[in-house]
Amino acid sequence: MLIIMQQGSTDEQCDAVEEQIRRMGYAPLPGPGENRTAICITGNKGPVESALLNQMAGVLECIPVTKPYKLVSREVHPDDTVVRIGSVAVGGEAPTFIAGPCSVETEARTLEVARRVRAAGAHIFRAGAYKPHTSPYSFQGLGEEGLHTLQRVKDEIGLPVVSEVTDASLAEKVAEHVDILQIGARNMQNFALLKKLGELKRPVLLKRGISATLEEWLMAAEYLLAEGNPDVILCERGVRTFNNHSRNTLDLNVVPLARQRTHLPVLVDPSHGVGKRDRVRPLARAGLAAGAHGLMMEVHSHPDTAYSDAHQTIDVETFAGIVKDASILSQLEGLFPRAVAAE
Ligand code: PEP
Ligand code: MN
Repeated sequence: MLIIMQQGSTDEQCDAVEEQIRRMGYAPLPGPGENRTAICITGNKGPVESALLNQMAGVLECIPVTKPYKLVSREVHPDDTVVRIGSVAVGGEAPTFIAGPCSVETEARTLEVARRVRAAGAHIFRAGAYKPHTSPYSFQGLGEEGLHTLQRVKDEIGLPVVSEVTDASLAEKVAEHVDILQIGARNMQNFALLKKLGELKRPVLLKRGISATLEEWLMAAEYLLAEGNPDVILCERGVRTFNNHSRNTLDLNVVPLARQRTHLPVLVDPSHGVGKRDRVRPLARAGLAAGAHGLMMEVHSHPDTAYSDAHQTIDVETFAGIVKDASILSQLEGLFPRAVAAE
């Protein structure tokens, strides 16, 4: 249930509504908007009886929220959320491109890739310092040394940086050096990590779990918002299916639906979605055409020699081609600036 307060309602009236919600045994979560204050009721297991609240001073209306997630839903927050990192916007009027190698590599190589993807149109640099690989024998990342390299990318190349936090105990250390904290597919339901990154209140990029439903994905995002962190970016990266012709199946079905259900920005990662270099560009185009707010891709100046995920890493020229594709696709009606399709 969402309680919408009248424009000009007083702090005392809002306090009284919150107190009444507590008396009913629920938890109020106020969310002041630009023109109105909305108070979300959380902690209820079924429908909330609204008669008492409806007649309180300052209350405009009580709207039932039909989904199990609340703070991430469009019912509660109809306008698109735009996550801002300095001058870069994710979820705004133009597509956002996140590019870089799978892993942080040597300083020289990482800076070279950053310089080149920036020149080709990247807004944000990606690279993992901590790598959650399926095999314990695969490259596990450079760890703290990698974080210092990412700091140099920020300072010397001027690109904001996203990098994965694989464990709650690493969150503060990673947050010292990077702008956006990534939660990987394998950790989408690591609730200790979700709560920790919610508390840190730094922008988070939340990958969809390998076999997560849309509802599970949005509930994971709800953990972050429930801890008071509104800056959450969703990223579809392919799900596990029966097919054996690609690493995962990029679920483009979920993109327009996620955009209907949530106000959070939705990105597509075609690199992990398909797992093969030669198919990244068609799926990047498809992701944008399906309504993604931008793309996250593995890009390298020497893709064959990438420390990890070389087979799905594209070269800088291909990335530049995708940026060009996006400017052509942006002319499609309703893509950029965004229009939300009715459900
Ligand atoms: C990555 O972005 O390099 C990564 C490990 O992604 P995912 O969690 O989607 O597999
Ligand atoms: Mn990777």
